[in-house]
Amino acid sequence: MSASWSAGRARRPAGRPAPAARLVELHAYAVDPAADRAAEQRGLLAQLHRLYPETRDARIVDARHAWHADCPLFPVGGHRNRPTVRTPDPAVTVAGVIVRSDLPVALMERAATTGFLAANALLERWGLRGQTLWTVPVRGRTAALRSLNRLVGD
Ligand SMILES: Cc1cc2nc3c(=O)[nH]c(=O)nc-3n(C[C@H](O)[C@H](O)[C@H](O)COP(=O)(O)OP(=O)(O)OC[C@H]3O[C@@H](n4cnc5c(N)ncnc54)[C@H](O)[C@@H]3O)c2cc1C
Repeated sequence: MSASWSAGRARRPAGRPAPAARLVELHAYAVDPAADRAAEQRGLLAQLHRLYPETRDARIVDARHAWHADCPLFPVGGHRNRPTVRTPDPAVTVAGVIVRSDLPVALMERAATTGFLAANALLERWGLRGQTLWTVPVRGRTAALRSLNRLVGD
């Protein structure tokens, strides 16, 4: 279940100067389907105010809420069941948001990253150099902190 909230510009009377209006879109993912929707919507706005205190004084001129249950592709724990870039046929590679990647990417980034990985896997067969992919560190930078994380981390 996901919810989104957006607030935008109201229609301005002719001759009045344009106010500094902004459209803000907030998204919540993996919301409990039984959740109190009004409370979730208030919570989203509260988080916006907490993260961006300058928005607290903003006047809301319009707000729209949309609730969808259209992310069934990504159940918790479903990572290992996704297809991988390489398939049993070396001439066939797959890419897209559904495809598993051990790099810390999601959504459009995962689609693009697996696209590069798929192209690289094909190029490798012809001895051609592919695209170098850069990522944030995928493990702690120091051995001491990694050990600490193993002890107390999740
Ligand atoms: C409302 C919404 C907001 C989003 N916002 C963000 C965001 O802010 N940031 C972000 O990173 N990601 C966002 N995403 C997710 C992002 O759009 C997807 O992760 C990304 O587009 C996935 O790329 P893809 O190439 O795997 O699939 P898609 O972009 O879905 O491309 C698949 C293509 O295949 C086509 N297709 C499907 N079936 C067939 C068929 N049988 N034959 C031929 N063609 C077919 C489809 O028409 C489509 O063009 C959002 C998604 C939605 C729905």
